[in-house]
Amino acid sequence: MRISVDRSLCCGAGMCALTAPELFDQAPEDGTVILLAPEPPPELADRARQAAELCPAGAISHQ
Ligand code: SF4
Repeated sequence: MRISVDRSLCCGAGMCALTAPELFDQAPEDGTVILLAPEPPPELADRARQAAELCPAGAISHQ
């Protein structure tokens, strides 16, 4: 799996970092997403998908 984020869409809601803190953090200055692991290990794939579904801005994609 590969994850990508579009920080121009991110509104800093933080659902990603709450859902999968191993994969996402938030920038201290504005709360926008920081992608920690663009290629997560298989055991984190489900939570990566969950984070993408929960993101209110549609800023997380995966393939
Ligand atoms: S859940 Fe979406 S909008 Fe919220 S911080 Fe993460 S990427 Fe940004």
